[in-house]
Amino acid sequence: MSAQTQVVECDAVIIGAGPAGSSAAAILAGHGRRVIMLERQPFPRYRIGESLIPYCWFPLHRLGMIERIDAAACTIQKHSVQFVGLDGKQTTPFYFASHTKHDCARTWQVVRSAFDQLLVENAKARGAEIRFGFSARQLLRDGESTVGVAAVDERGQTIEFRAPMTIDASGRDCLAIRERGWRVDDPQLRKIALWTYYKGAKRDAGIDEGATTVAYLPDKGWFWYIPLPDDKVSVGIVCERDYLYREPALDPKAMFEREAQIQPWIAEHLAGATQVGEYRVTGDYSYRSKYCAADGLLLAGDAFGFLDPVFSSGVFLALYTGVLAGDAVHESLAAGDVSAARFAAYGEKFRSAIEAMRRLVYAFYDTDFSFGAFLKAHPEFRSDLTDCLIGNVEKDLNPLFDAASEFADIPAPLPHGRPLTAQASGAGRA
Ligand SMILES: Cc1cc2nc3c(=O)[nH]c(=O)nc-3n(C[C@H](O)[C@H](O)[C@H](O)COP(=O)(O)OP(=O)(O)OC[C@H]3O[C@@H](n4cnc5c(N)ncnc54)[C@H](O)[C@@H]3O)c2cc1C
Repeated sequence: MSAQTQVVECDAVIIGAGPAGSSAAAILAGHGRRVIMLERQPFPRYRIGESLIPYCWFPLHRLGMIERIDAAACTIQKHSVQFVGLDGKQTTPFYFASHTKHDCARTWQVVRSAFDQLLVENAKARGAEIRFGFSARQLLRDGESTVGVAAVDERGQTIEFRAPMTIDASGRDCLAIRERGWRVDDPQLRKIALWTYYKGAKRDAGIDEGATTVAYLPDKGWFWYIPLPDDKVSVGIVCERDYLYREPALDPKAMFEREAQIQPWIAEHLAGATQVGEYRVTGDYSYRSKYCAADGLLLAGDAFGFLDPVFSSGVFLALYTGVLAGDAVHESLAAGDVSAARFAAYGEKFRSAIEAMRRLVYAFYDTDFSFGAFLKAHPEFRSDLTDCLIGNVEKDLNPLFDAASEFADIPAPLPHGRPLTAQASGAGRA
């Protein structure tokens, strides 16, 4: 630390103001903690991840956000999901209300820039301090303990935010994972995504207006079709890299248009619509952190792990872990014990949630698997399957996946997500 380095002290510092960071900040501030959230980008800022799942309702309810989200111009209601075969034939929509009468049966499609802004405003209204234009550069360490973070402001000045607890919610930037070498890649999920937006594309009326459509491509690739407000639709492809780049000379626009012509339902829905904005491509997004916590440090949202865009689990896991992290950190501060071991139960909740969804994602991509055939053989698992899809991941879903393993290669859990205690790391620590 140079003589000029400014030091700011608080109870908890949070890196990143996405759904994970804002949820944790709102909960901690609600508990009366002095919390500072650092965000590198000016808000509102663009984010992918527009389709929510029903169980987002529970963390959003805890945050007091349901009415605001219902009323916000950046959201439309989503009541169902539908699938479209390679031949362009659409299945009957699956309505969440056919599974549960709870208010969570209608969820939302959201414009993330504005949705994330709402979550930030909520954290601020509860007393969290938000510093935009602050880029966290390095976790501060005192021996094995994290004691805050060094950040750089827009003028290039370094400020140290010192706190007994730091929450890494930096999304796919994964500050702690990168700094500590904790990345665990998924051995099989190595997909790539290419997406853009359209205005004036075809959309259904009434309750079906906000439905998410998953439309299949060859080799278990698929399109997402997510209606948004302002007559916009988010349309994206997820597939194997070799499939997308099979004609390497094509640019993203040409690749997108080629795939849109292969899927008749997509071609028909986009006919006459106007493409807007850029074509975006991303890959290498299926990973987990070896550890969920170290002394004084906790990971939440994508900074902890991300699975795959199918089944839209990302924002749910970010909100879910953000709220859990806020409570867990508050309790650790109240106990005067911020050791990693305190966060074992937190890590276990994330692990079991993401592993349940991962088993479902593996089944989805298995070329021998079809949900229809599985449910025909095992109608007794319809409810469990739906629970997994809507985010009810605290339920014991092992019987479902034991049965599904007759039809698909269901993976063993990845070694990840425990706290970094001396016991977990063997002789030495990372
Ligand atoms: C192709 C694709 C499609 C997807 N579709 C969906 C979907 O339909 N539904 C869904 O639920 N999820 C979807 N997701 C996942 C979703 O985007 C994420 O899971 C979600 O945004 C995670 O929220 P978060 O708060 O953890 O991180 P983010 O939303 O990424 O927020 C992290 C924040 O941290 C800030 N930050 C990063 N580094 C620093 C730093 N060093 N200092 C300060 N600030 C920093 C960033 O600027 C950012 O604002 C998709 C993901 C991909 C890749």
